[in-house]
Amino acid sequence: MINFSKNEKIDCEFLIIGSGASGSVASKYLVDQGKDVLMIEEGEGEIASKNNSFSKSFLNAWRNSGITPIISKSNFAFGEGMCLGGGTTINGGLVWRTPELILRRWNKSLDTNKFSVNNLSKYFNEIENNLGLDTKHNTNIDENKESLKLLEISEKKSLKVVRIPKSINASEIDNKLILGRSSNSKNTILEKYINYSKKKGLRVITNCKAQKLFTENEKIKSIEVIIDNKKKTIVAKNIILACGATQTPMLLKNSFGNNYLDSQMQNHINFRIGVKFSNPMQNESETMFTRQVQEYLEDGILIMPTSFNKSNFFSSLAKMNNDELSLIENDISKFSSFIIQLQSLNKIKINNYLNRAILSYEINKLDLIKLKKYCSIFCNLLFEFGAEIIYLPFKKNFKITKKDNLDDIFKKNLNAKNLEMVSVHGMSSAKMGLKNEKYTVFNLNGRSFDFKNLFCIDSSILPSSTIESPQGTIMAVASQILEENFN
Ligand SMILES: Cc1cc2nc3c(=O)[nH]c(=O)nc-3n(C[C@H](O)[C@H](O)[C@H](O)COP(=O)(O)OP(=O)(O)OC[C@H]3O[C@@H](n4cnc5c(N)ncnc54)[C@H](O)[C@@H]3O)c2cc1C
Repeated sequence: MINFSKNEKIDCEFLIIGSGASGSVASKYLVDQGKDVLMIEEGEGEIASKNNSFSKSFLNAWRNSGITPIISKSNFAFGEGMCLGGGTTINGGLVWRTPELILRRWNKSLDTNKFSVNNLSKYFNEIENNLGLDTKHNTNIDENKESLKLLEISEKKSLKVVRIPKSINASEIDNKLILGRSSNSKNTILEKYINYSKKKGLRVITNCKAQKLFTENEKIKSIEVIIDNKKKTIVAKNIILACGATQTPMLLKNSFGNNYLDSQMQNHINFRIGVKFSNPMQNESETMFTRQVQEYLEDGILIMPTSFNKSNFFSSLAKMNNDELSLIENDISKFSSFIIQLQSLNKIKINNYLNRAILSYEINKLDLIKLKKYCSIFCNLLFEFGAEIIYLPFKKNFKITKKDNLDDIFKKNLNAKNLEMVSVHGMSSAKMGLKNEKYTVFNLNGRSFDFKNLFCIDSSILPSSTIESPQGTIMAVASQILEENFN
């Protein structure tokens, strides 16, 4: 552990700001090359290696002690990690390769071929290897029933349902991985990247926030950081931004003014659907969910189960009265939850107000139309395959049964003011691009156009959102940027 003593200034060759999906990749890449690397992390350091309760994880591992509200007509909240390991400490451990259609769009819009499947595959291979990705399923262990339900629907209705690639250890033998909680059941970034790098000389300072970058002669001269409410200075030859999709824009704005970049964050929105089936759905001996509906990927829509646990489920039912809640509790084993995930057309605006990120968003009308379509398709399928009651992500009129006219329900109730939604995938808020494009501050190799020793490798640099969960893409693009600049 490094301490800044009074007035001490720390020097390093490489400073990585942020220890999440991207920062951890940078630490391994650079120490493997024998570089002198310092990583700073705003959040706590000890959280990632422990199996923490949900509420403890909220307090210690999430930014703003849980969920960051988004100003919107809908009930909308954003979630991100703030601890050693960043989002990877609390996420679901799903590590996808970038869908090909996204890579095609990136190449076309940026007039490049660097994002071809071929070019990226060596990075994905390495990441999957390091994380011990579970691609083979242990057939001795039951899959969870929500996943089997999707499989049954897929077989009978010819829908494309695929197996989910996960960086999971223990969830093949127990069902303890609760999304949102730090836990030992993932092959965490902490172990495979950060602790690995520490053994090879990486220095790490936690509870240390980079506040402002200072420049001289088109370079970042020094970095002001806050530790224990005191300002300190770091001097680095190269600065790598890995603060994530809300905080990289915030650091740039704090350093160079609010107009420096147009910090609008692309995102995926989750609509959570609670379902009561006629048969029991929960069983302690099953795995975490394993399947995903990819039939509608081209339309930016994915459908999958989400990890189920009683308190987690109840948190989404706060609008219900006590009688209804106890009915649910009595029959809890028959409940399950799924999410419809949408690649949002509109972006979340990141406004800098006195150094705090204030987020605002309105859902696009075309997304509402899309959502009506896929809610209707999926709810009809659920009723056909054994659902008795469905709880929709609505503020009002959220409980439906088979007898209801779904088209009518969605027409009347699925509108911006009545929606409840969450996003945990922010991206592309300081995206790479071509020189002289308005507000583009990083080139296609992640290097700043304005400051020669400044690089960005995190989710904010991605050219767009990814439809699939982004961790794999973030890590692969970060690896590519690192190799392009520091090989
Ligand atoms: C509950 C949840 C579930 C998810 N599930 C999945 C999943 O299953 N699969 C998937 O692919 N993705 C998932 N994600 C998303 C994924 O975790 C993120 O997209 C990814 O971690 C982002 O990587 P990053 O490097 O850009 O930033 P992060 O991982 O967010 O890391 C940024 C780090 O930088 C630190 N930081 C920020 N500002 C500063 C500063 N000024 N100074 C010092 N440190 C700073 C932060 O505290 C944070 O620890 C999930 C996210 C959440 C929240």
